[in-house]
Amino acid sequence: MKFEEYKIAEGIKTSISKLGFKKPTDIQFKSIPPILRGEDVLAIAQTGTGKTAAFAIPVLHTLQDRKIKGRPDGVKCLVMVPTHELALQTENVFRVLGKHTRVKSFAIHGGVDQDPQIKQLNKGVDVLIATPGRMFDLVSQGALQMHRIEILVLDEADHMLDMGFIKDIRDLMKHLPRKRQTLFFSATINEQIKKIAYSLVSDAIRIQISPKDPVAKNIEHAVAFIEMDDKRFFLESVINNQPDQKILVFVRTKVRAERVKKALDRVNVQSETIHSDKEQEQRELTMQQFRSGSVKVLIATDISARGIDIPDVELVVNYDLPESPEYYVHRVGRTGRGTNKGQAISFCSKEEREMLGIIEEQLGKPIYRTEISKGFYRDTIEASKENEETDWQSLLDQEDEFQKKKKKKNKKSKG
Ligand code: ADP
Ligand code: MG
Repeated sequence: MKFEEYKIAEGIKTSISKLGFKKPTDIQFKSIPPILRGEDVLAIAQTGTGKTAAFAIPVLHTLQDRKIKGRPDGVKCLVMVPTHELALQTENVFRVLGKHTRVKSFAIHGGVDQDPQIKQLNKGVDVLIATPGRMFDLVSQGALQMHRIEILVLDEADHMLDMGFIKDIRDLMKHLPRKRQTLFFSATINEQIKKIAYSLVSDAIRIQISPKDPVAKNIEHAVAFIEMDDKRFFLESVINNQPDQKILVFVRTKVRAERVKKALDRVNVQSETIHSDKEQEQRELTMQQFRSGSVKVLIATDISARGIDIPDVELVVNYDLPESPEYYVHRVGRTGRGTNKGQAISFCSKEEREMLGIIEEQLGKPIYRTEISKGFYRDTIEASKENEETDWQSLLDQEDEFQKKKKKKNKKSKG
């Protein structure tokens, strides 16, 4: 089936073809019709399989079909996402796909001044993409009305329904009209969260693509056994072997992110970090630089593992193993997006073997082992710029130079 055959607005089809999408992905094929019919949907499909367009296309069609009378008449579709970056990215997908419609899409998130956001809301927004924090702030101030919402989308649904957010989501439901459409999208979901999702809707249609292997088939992923203190040498080696590749490096904590960056600085490898301690503006700038390729190596914590779509990330390095199998799926899922292929490698130390076992159990199969011979292991460490002999040599040279100058000076002062 081609997009042309869908009963959707011509303007949306034009945008789809401008994006170069030839045919719908599996998840788009399966979810667009029931969403157009107004059904509730719980859709689970691997990372990078086009879930955003799977809900954006039918939502845009449904809303542009409405007679949009005078504005402002309140938000009609609310899309909730976990991070600022994902909010902006999703806003962009809605704007690009909705370019030839009258649907107005807008993202709100914390970390920036709220007044311009309120102004925009007052002008009229049809599709609001929001992170929970700022959204609830605006609701409690009365700056955001919920009574016109016809469609609620939870992207990264398992995360949005997880403990930290569930109370907020339940409260939110109370503000929404009883008659509405609810859509859940994610690459991962467990039984408990699935139950919560079903409890929030009446008759959800469940759509699941390749449930057996949560890791997308475009991704080749492997693990290498490397001790904690040696990881930086292997990262340096991986980066230097592929100097033109875009590489996303995941670490467990913000402190580790900065430490890894410092280690790379020492060996003249340029990199940037992204984590929640950074200013929003800086985070956006870093993402832009990574998207454009002016920054090739980005070191990130798990916050950026959800949903972010940077089309040509060739390699994901799990410098540290993640804390949960879901995170593993989302991290490696930053590569191999759309029709691209991607690679991921995890550095696993002795201390992390247990976690590796847990991840593999959840994935339902072992992760491919990259064999590293003793010789190669030693060579990689020795080859590091950090351990290069020339460094010693230049230090010695400097010392020589210094001694010579000192002698000269002494002579002069004596003479
Ligand atoms: P997911 O949410 O499933 O992880 P995204 O919605 O972020 O995936 O989409 C991943 C990539 O696939 C994006 O770069 C998007 O432009 C591309 N894509 C989406 N739909 C199609 C399609 N029908 N054909 C080709 N590429 C697509
Ligand atoms: Mg997504």
